[in-house]
Amino acid sequence: MRQHPAFVCAQCTRLTRSIRWNVSPFSLPSTKRLNSHATQTGRLFRVAIVGSGPAGFYAASHLLAKQQDAVVDMYEKLPVPFGLVRYGVAPDHPEVKNCEEKFTEVATSSRFNFVGNIALGHDLPLAALKPHYDAILFAYGAARDKGLGIPGEEPRRNVYSARAFVGWYNGLPDHRDLEPDLTSGEDAVIIGHGNVALDVARILLSDVDALRKTDISDYALAALAQSRIKRVRVVGRRGPLQASFTIKEVRELLQLPSVSFEPIPKELFPPEETISALPRAQKRLIQLLAKGSTNNPETSSKSWSLQFCLSPSSFEMTPDASQVARVQFDRNYIEPANPYSRSSKAIPEYTESGQPARTNLPASIVFRSVGYRSLPLPNIQDLGIEFDELRGVIPNDGVGRVTTLSGSVNPQNFSAGSPASHLPGLYCAGWVKTGPTGVIASTMADAFTTADAIYRSGLGGVKPEAERLGLRRTSWQDWQRIDEKERALGKETGRPRAKLGRVSAMLEALD
Ligand SMILES: Cc1cc2nc3c(=O)[nH]c(=O)nc-3n(C[C@H](O)[C@H](O)[C@H](O)COP(=O)(O)OP(=O)(O)OC[C@H]3O[C@@H](n4cnc5c(N)ncnc54)[C@H](O)[C@@H]3O)c2cc1C
Repeated sequence: MRQHPAFVCAQCTRLTRSIRWNVSPFSLPSTKRLNSHATQTGRLFRVAIVGSGPAGFYAASHLLAKQQDAVVDMYEKLPVPFGLVRYGVAPDHPEVKNCEEKFTEVATSSRFNFVGNIALGHDLPLAALKPHYDAILFAYGAARDKGLGIPGEEPRRNVYSARAFVGWYNGLPDHRDLEPDLTSGEDAVIIGHGNVALDVARILLSDVDALRKTDISDYALAALAQSRIKRVRVVGRRGPLQASFTIKEVRELLQLPSVSFEPIPKELFPPEETISALPRAQKRLIQLLAKGSTNNPETSSKSWSLQFCLSPSSFEMTPDASQVARVQFDRNYIEPANPYSRSSKAIPEYTESGQPARTNLPASIVFRSVGYRSLPLPNIQDLGIEFDELRGVIPNDGVGRVTTLSGSVNPQNFSAGSPASHLPGLYCAGWVKTGPTGVIASTMADAFTTADAIYRSGLGGVKPEAERLGLRRTSWQDWQRIDEKERALGKETGRPRAKLGRVSAMLEALD
């Protein structure tokens, strides 16, 4: 493989090994290189991106387009790319996954290098990376979920995190063996009022034949075909005006054939004049919720409901303690001073005798869906990063430069951080920067902001230790071979793809 002299790292001799990994030889583009780092320093600008979800790919795309001498190595812990686009977005939302085409286009750049099956911080120490790159961009998402913090939450038979369930039906190897029991009863309770909760409800209530046309995992399809679940209750601690799900997801559930919707009590809605004055999207959502579904409960085989103003307080088990039987909830009301604001709080309700007002909902299976959470990578402190445990983010200045904890800026309250608090050469983007909120479009905008910050910087040099440690990495071509195999397997059963559910199966497909 031909090497450009500009690749030789001034500080180390291991560059040659890095180059050998490359999908295609790095080459300086023939296009003009105005404002180029290479023209100033005589070498390329090397960027390591940790994570291959939307944040990583959109940052790579922006950086490669803007900075003609930038070279990106994208590290991914799985052998395959795309993060939550592949393993989070619901299988019956294929249009959302169209961004994979854009990402694939990015990966064809001769200045882009996919380094799959390497978990940074776990397989490969972060400190080994640092001297070899001009910039390291953390875009590793949020791979944990938030707990409810109630007694007996973990681990209980048939109480799952929505994150694990979503990973399971989407073929995420971590959750391949979850085996949720969908056959022990007819009642599911989902705790949380966001879009992930509605994704879970929709998958539980959808006709299996409709799911068969998607890339949902085979084993999930088989389990859903056996499911006895007939009623799904989606429970939130506040009211309809404070829910965070959006109209598209509600409408899809309301339109599911043979699934009725239990009307929401009228007293939970504000007066008509308040609804008319709401922002457009919220107004349409509230109007849709008030209208409900036209499906007849008498002729529908399944039903769902939205339950409001309930906070879970404990799980009650069957007499033999083998699995959950019901969930106990404390009742709330919305702070009376401001009941129609999005940010109004839930206040616990008490009985006349001063006890918490309570109610139970039957449940043969429970999913908690109260948000995702990022964790620090092992030994991230070796790079001087003090992970913000409270907010679950890498401290940053809002534009994506990593800062000290005290120099960090809350993204909700954006302002530029003090340059003195920046950790040079370190950046973050996506959910590990902003916290686990927002959709692919907002993640894209955020990744562009960080890429601009990297572009505006301009620092020093190169390459990883994985080969020395004998780690097996996957290349972009490897991913394409896995992709081909999954599509071929899917074709056999008339589906867009059949995902390989284990890392070992993915690697075997390459052998
Ligand atoms: C269940 C669910 C459904 C969603 N549905 C939609 C939808 O329909 N439409 C929409 O617009 N948005 C949707 N979203 C939101 C969207 O998925 C996120 O906005 C987006 O994926 C965040 O991108 P990210 O790159 O920050 O994180 P991720 O997509 O999580 O990517 C992070 C990547 O980093 C990798 N990684 C983690 N640790 C390491 C490590 N140590 N070394 C190397 N790599 C590592 C991970 O494997 C992953 O590939 C959904 C989210 C969820 C959870």
